[in-house]
Amino acid sequence: MWGTVGGDDVDGSAGGTGQGGAPRVRMPSGAGLSRRSVVTMLGVGLAAWLSGWAEGTVSASPRPGGPGIAAGPGRDGSAIAAPPTPVARTQVVPPPPGKPIALTIDDGYAPQVVAGYVEFARRTGVHLTFGPNGTYASAWAPQAGVLRPLIDAGQVQIMNHTFSHRWLTQIPAGRIREELERNEQWIAATFATTSRPYWRPPFGAHNAAVDAVARDVGFTRPVMWTGSYGDSTVVTPQFLLDQARRYLTAGRIVLGHANHPTVLGLFDQISSIIRDRGLQPVTLDEFFGTRRR
Ligand SMILES: [Zn+2]
Repeated sequence: MWGTVGGDDVDGSAGGTGQGGAPRVRMPSGAGLSRRSVVTMLGVGLAAWLSGWAEGTVSASPRPGGPGIAAGPGRDGSAIAAPPTPVARTQVVPPPPGKPIALTIDDGYAPQVVAGYVEFARRTGVHLTFGPNGTYASAWAPQAGVLRPLIDAGQVQIMNHTFSHRWLTQIPAGRIREELERNEQWIAATFATTSRPYWRPPFGAHNAAVDAVARDVGFTRPVMWTGSYGDSTVVTPQFLLDQARRYLTAGRIVLGHANHPTVLGLFDQISSIIRDRGLQPVTLDEFFGTRRR
């Protein structure tokens, strides 16, 4: 249950492919690790963390034989050439027990869907991670007052999905840096938190050069996904629920979008799937054993 996979779905546009890379610090994807494995992992993780190693794509392992998830290309060690970037606000802590699942919700160009997701989190206490784009600030700003205490409590986490959702593989380094830093500044001002070190490239489009630029500004952990509602474009409720049933399994990072209202009528059914399967929704910090301070 160790390893990495690429995304199986594109984020916002048909036809692209997410890429995975081998993480330098591999994290457990679910239950069943021996105590020794966990201790070994923590030791390696802590050493990597303290030494400021550059880290590769962070993603969860699918269950063996899981449907529709192709292994991504591994990365070699050349990416380590960038200077170490200290990440002072996170520390390695034990991974969550049980059957963790990381729900990640990106974008946010529909204010009512953003509001619906935030209300879902507030009402149910579900742990999740948002990847908002600052370009949709008008949709997120009205929710900041509700979100801040949830973030403070560690129920909700914010990762960096860039400010204006460009293909980072097609723009110069300076603009990549600006996309990440501008979004981080907006996140800090709006939600009073930092998104570092987690970031998700729009459309899942990244490579070693993009990762190096991100790393230089403190975004050392690109986060892909290992399951998706497939709702970056408009889908039917039946399709979205089928995706949810398929991918809401232990150890996955599941991608959804706050873009189209289809999901708004499905929160109770999604909650039922999670509950019936005994899954424990967690933030990325909880999933990977990091924390804010
Ligand atoms: Zn996106």
